[in-house]
Amino acid sequence: MINKKNLIFLGAPGAGKGTFSALLLEKYPLVHISTGDILRSEIKNGTELGKQAAALMEKGELVPDNIVAGMVRDRLAKDDCDKGFILDGFPRTVNQADLLEQALQDIGRSLDSVVFFDVEDELILKRLTARISCKDCGEIFNRIFHPPKSENECDKCGGGLFQRPDDSLETAKERLRVFYDNTRPLIDYYAGKGLLLAITETQKELVFQELEKELA
Ligand code: ADP
Ligand code: ZN
Repeated sequence: MINKKNLIFLGAPGAGKGTFSALLLEKYPLVHISTGDILRSEIKNGTELGKQAAALMEKGELVPDNIVAGMVRDRLAKDDCDKGFILDGFPRTVNQADLLEQALQDIGRSLDSVVFFDVEDELILKRLTARISCKDCGEIFNRIFHPPKSENECDKCGGGLFQRPDDSLETAKERLRVFYDNTRPLIDYYAGKGLLLAITETQKELVFQELEKELA
């Protein structure tokens, strides 16, 4: 059982935020809020916001703070977030964290814990550049660490597999740089508030065990 249910998942791209969100969601009725997923769906739907975001995301740069903060604020205001929520990939700058704090205050919610997935750069780059996901159900595989049973088909639903355009080596390196410059300061920010919980395990089963124990 977990008792801490209002969560932020913090970590470099490829640190495991999406993977462990999905695993936690299999067991607990939390709402998963991934700004990356919301932005990718805006792009897919060809919205004005999507067009703006696409150019930045392709380069590995951040989408403006007020845009992502607005999206998250709207989502957090919905009643289903009473169950608890995982903010995956947001906040990514100190300014976003300040905007989040304001939004939470306005909505009448608070944070229980900020989980930092601490993974070395070398492993990050290996994971990102070998990552593939299912077009249909979003399941994440990795050609090195967690290969699908059949090379181009999802184990879960049979859907086609694809590599995210921003997982190329060049863009992955840029995203890592953006993480160090913009997002890393959030570790001290949340440690200062007594909310930080760092996970240094990288093996899947062990990470999940530690996660559940720490959120109990
Ligand atoms: P990852 O964590 O693997 O980098 P995400 O799906 O979280 O992947 O994000 C993909 C891209 O979407 C980012 O590189 C960035 O361009 C954009 N993005 C996602 N979340 C945010 C955010 N909170 N602030 C600004 N840009 C964001
Ligand atoms: Zn699938």
